[in-house]
Amino acid sequence: MKEVRFEIIPADLAASFKDFMLPPAAEHTEFDKLTFFAAIVDDMIVAILVCDAKRVAPEFLSICVSPDFEGQGIATGLLNFAITEVLSRYGDEVNIPNNFSARVVGPVGSCDKICHILESIGFKQTENSEFYETRVSSLDSNHILQSDAAKERAADPKYRALKDCTSGLINTFGNQIIEEGLSEGLNLNDLDKDISYFVVENEKVKSGILFYEESEGVIQNAFVYKVNEDILTNMETVVAFSASASAVLEKYPCGKRLSFLAEDEGVARLIKKVFPNAKVTGIAKGYELKFEDVLSSGTERFTDDIAFTHISNENMVCATCRHCMENVMECKVYLQKPDRVLDGADCPDFENA
Ligand code: SF4
Repeated sequence: MKEVRFEIIPADLAASFKDFMLPPAAEHTEFDKLTFFAAIVDDMIVAILVCDAKRVAPEFLSICVSPDFEGQGIATGLLNFAITEVLSRYGDEVNIPNNFSARVVGPVGSCDKICHILESIGFKQTENSEFYETRVSSLDSNHILQSDAAKERAADPKYRALKDCTSGLINTFGNQIIEEGLSEGLNLNDLDKDISYFVVENEKVKSGILFYEESEGVIQNAFVYKVNEDILTNMETVVAFSASASAVLEKYPCGKRLSFLAEDEGVARLIKKVFPNAKVTGIAKGYELKFEDVLSSGTERFTDDIAFTHISNENMVCATCRHCMENVMECKVYLQKPDRVLDGADCPDFENA
């Protein structure tokens, strides 16, 4: 294995790799202020880790490794280098509760490797959300959203589209969710004002269902605010959903995709109740690593235990398997070979060539 060097690279150089970065990094409004950690082999950048290295809760936004260098410990080494670098900036401030955070979002099965790396470094999982997907057409025939009871109740003026809310009410709601710690990543200006609905009482938002503007054929649910513990007895969120569904059907063709992020049990229950056949298409996992845990175990631990090993089909069981292909990471059975096979263990799908 050739020597791997880790360096911080300038934003203008990192910008040429934007196509390989995840949206939170590539589309960051202050891209130039982010910190870019690179792994370099033979003067070639083979991996980039993007970090919002702010003083409180530095956040890892994206990591990408060139396919030819996957499975060799480079992502682990890069994360460890970044953790050590950030700690050297703020590590003496252990009196403030501080931690690194990372969020992994992607299709089901595609994120297992990076989750495994984060967990092996010591990150603890703090969020485990799922994306459910259905089509606009499924709103039309939905026996809950289109029930007479829901439609009748939706005529009550307390169920209000975002476009019909005063700016005062929206500002109050914005402050409300900031106070409740629910505003992270949510920009009320990005919402679709026709199809987002609130339940309003005494000129205050009580609950609601919010959607982003359609993008690339997908209408993404942004937030379901305050799902009652027992959605069967308190139908308000369902009625707001019914009003929203009618607005979606009016605005969008039946073939558009509708996606919901179930960030907690309540939302997952609501989605499963309304769309029993909705598929889980993606996951979003949040992770945290406390500064004090890294400092108490010593940063050497993060640099000493990395082994860069060159992997090839010849040093895996795949060498004599009939499913083997030239790309070491893929084969005819797996789009991404299991970690244990890449680590040199046996494979349940091995078949002699
Ligand atoms: S099926 Fe298993 S042993 Fe065969 S090539 Fe794929 S990963 Fe390797």
